[in-house]
Amino acid sequence: MSLPSESFVLRPEWLLVLGRDALAPAGSALVVRDRSIAAVLAPGEAPPADLPLVELPGHAVLPGLVNAHGHLAMSLLRGLADDHLLESWLQEHIWPAEGRWVGPEFVADGTALAAAEMLRSGTTCCADMYFFPEVSAAVLSRVGMRSQVAAPIIRFPNAWSNGADAAIHQALELLDRFRDDPLCNIAFGPHSAYVLEADTLARIATLAAEVGRPVQIHLHETATEVRDYLALHGRTPLAHLGELGLLGPSLQAVHVTQVSQGEIEQLARHGASVVHCPQSNMRLASGICPVPALRAAGVTVALGTDGAASNNGLDLFRELNTALLLAKSSRQDPTALRAIDALRMATCDGARALGLDGQIGSLEAGKRADVIAVDLSAPAQQPVYDPLSQLAYTGIGQCVRHVWIDGVPRLVDGELPGMDVEDLTARARRWAARIRGGSTA
Ligand SMILES: [Zn+2]
Repeated sequence: MSLPSESFVLRPEWLLVLGRDALAPAGSALVVRDRSIAAVLAPGEAPPADLPLVELPGHAVLPGLVNAHGHLAMSLLRGLADDHLLESWLQEHIWPAEGRWVGPEFVADGTALAAAEMLRSGTTCCADMYFFPEVSAAVLSRVGMRSQVAAPIIRFPNAWSNGADAAIHQALELLDRFRDDPLCNIAFGPHSAYVLEADTLARIATLAAEVGRPVQIHLHETATEVRDYLALHGRTPLAHLGELGLLGPSLQAVHVTQVSQGEIEQLARHGASVVHCPQSNMRLASGICPVPALRAAGVTVALGTDGAASNNGLDLFRELNTALLLAKSSRQDPTALRAIDALRMATCDGARALGLDGQIGSLEAGKRADVIAVDLSAPAQQPVYDPLSQLAYTGIGQCVRHVWIDGVPRLVDGELPGMDVEDLTARARRWAARIRGGSTA
């Protein structure tokens, strides 16, 4: 089948606009004109005669999902070393493999693999933080995904940069190169407070404010991180970031599993966002991000999968399902987080955390047409009392049928027209053979 591009009308069975209201009345239609959302038509209102009309019975149409944190190329390390503690997982398995194998070709192949997986499960916008960000940014732009690509800044020389100063310089070059890209947004990606000097963090705060770009950082991922930092610096990483001027609306703090009520209020006061990665946190037993308390304090909480090496998948529907179950079980309260809350975290709140809420995150007139259609007609989704519940609780990622990004179809009836999936998977298998065999061929 083929789908119309740039200007069209969608009339699904359920239209989730996720604006002030979650769900439009039955029979509503979405009008896309010149890649932007032009209107939501009320039931019975005639669609514009000049636009192709796509009827989608049995489908829910909603904003594309926003995966607000990941390391895309790590998809090539999926399943390499499971069932370890964070420290030994990193130090004995992931870092040595990265040290040996990461280069532009690894990043190109891993990013494309991740993009295919995300597109098929309804993610239209992703945030990446990995080496060779110029390569991942180019791959994501080529396949038509919206992205935030954060240049990784760490103290140690690595395959991409010769330490923090070089990385900052390369980040600024990257920003220039992608300044006019309609889909790719460059950000600063200081890995974490514990791998950077205080003066570097302060410099990143100043530069990010000057050029108006976001900063994404791993923060308070584990109790060990916070305890060791406190012992060394006499304050927590979060308190230190506050002193250094990094806490603000453009800060995206990833994980935040260890945080006091005072620190939650500090995040809220400064308008900083949190990216919750429940599966990675559960998988590495890192701790639990207090999502209900953060949301209650007014902190924007987005959702991320983290890299596939610690998840092990990039299906954001699965992630939001996990976020719901984890919040309910950890609080022993089934109302701690509701289906609509998790759907908002995966769409409009994700967009807000990335500073893209003026463009995407809900189906409202004026926003770009990042739209997905999910088939709710399979036995596992029957009967549909409430489409929000079905989307949140029934493992729906594999039922995403169509995806438009910026009004252009990128997934058509479950197929990826712009990607050679056979070639992608063959490349992934070749990488696994090399990595497992330790060969340099
Ligand atoms: Zn991460």
